[in-house]
Amino acid sequence: MRTAALYGLLALTTSTLASTARVETKACGPQTTEVMIVGVSTLCLHIEETTPARTQLLHTWVRRSADIVAQYYGRFPASLVLLDLGIMDGAGIGGGHTINEGGLSIHVGVGRDATPEGLANDWVLVHEMVHLALPEIGRRHDWLAEGLAVYVEGIARAQAGNRAIADVWAEDRRSMPLGLPREGEGGMDQTPTWARKYWGGALFCLEADVQIRQRTGNRQGLQAALRAILDATGGYGAARDIGDVLSIGDAATGTRVLEELYERESTTPVAGDLDALWRSLGVPKDPLTEPFEDHAPLAAIRIAITRPQGL
Ligand SMILES: [Zn+2]
Repeated sequence: MRTAALYGLLALTTSTLASTARVETKACGPQTTEVMIVGVSTLCLHIEETTPARTQLLHTWVRRSADIVAQYYGRFPASLVLLDLGIMDGAGIGGGHTINEGGLSIHVGVGRDATPEGLANDWVLVHEMVHLALPEIGRRHDWLAEGLAVYVEGIARAQAGNRAIADVWAEDRRSMPLGLPREGEGGMDQTPTWARKYWGGALFCLEADVQIRQRTGNRQGLQAALRAILDATGGYGAARDIGDVLSIGDAATGTRVLEELYERESTTPVAGDLDALWRSLGVPKDPLTEPFEDHAPLAAIRIAITRPQGL
């Protein structure tokens, strides 16, 4: 999830960061309890009610999540961000949201009984960090921000070896049908339901990824478009028109896939043939128990999307 931005309060994100930790610590502000450097980015951690053991646990989790997202985008998608890690009952992780108000911040609750295994398999923080890579494009287009976060979380973790490839496709196959328009619903910009926003948005991303790869001989995918969008805009610290964002992505792949898909689906409900898509990609009904079909027409595209990259 991410919330609406207040434009123009971006001084922290655009400030030049010196390379010494001392200066970067200063940039973090007084609430910071830990500073983590990821590449040239500074992550300011505020860990509520902590112990040395819990701090170490959360440190590992933040580092793992940040490395996965940095690998997908070629760099961590914000130069400076506050990670506000609250405490909650139980072992779960929840309530994640990413905000752009006087600087970028991610807020997540972590259970006081959280385990190393639970944190190693967590998707929430990766999802929130992916939000940092897309500019603020307005509430009407939240489906693109959420869809990207859902879609990229699975792919990026599979590429990093943090999530089983079969599990990613199993979830997509199970949940993307939720994102199809129901009777009486409108296009993507007109239907802000949970299902359309999260899974309809994720389906849009998969369609885009497959089509970009079809048109580029599987040499480029959505990942190349998203990296270009981050590089050109700086990510969530900036406010941009959705048309500009999509055209930046398309220019990077030498296609018009994103713009065409948006024109087709923004104000018209489009119920694509998902069964045909799974068949062409060679994704079985239950990828957790059945083998993928590697002779399917678009199997090479499916394999390229989740191919491990190695950290
Ligand atoms: Zn989200």
